[in-house]
Amino acid sequence: MEYEKCNKCDEYFVITEHKLQMPGTKEREPIICPYCKEINYERVSNGWWNTRKLTEEEKEKITNSNQD
Ligand SMILES: [Zn+2]
Repeated sequence: MEYEKCNKCDEYFVITEHKLQMPGTKEREPIICPYCKEINYERVSNGWWNTRKLTEEEKEKITNSNQD
């Protein structure tokens, strides 16, 4: 599981890869902010990228770790 910070709205979100069982189909797929729907960037994937909002717990964890 990976976290990313949106370029536009500065919210953190979670990225997970949805992999398809087909070799050799790596393409650039967009990573879209679940808050403002902005395409942040594109990354190569076998399938596509799912993004979702953080739970309160995850948000807290990230905020704390960034203060170190
Ligand atoms: Zn955003």
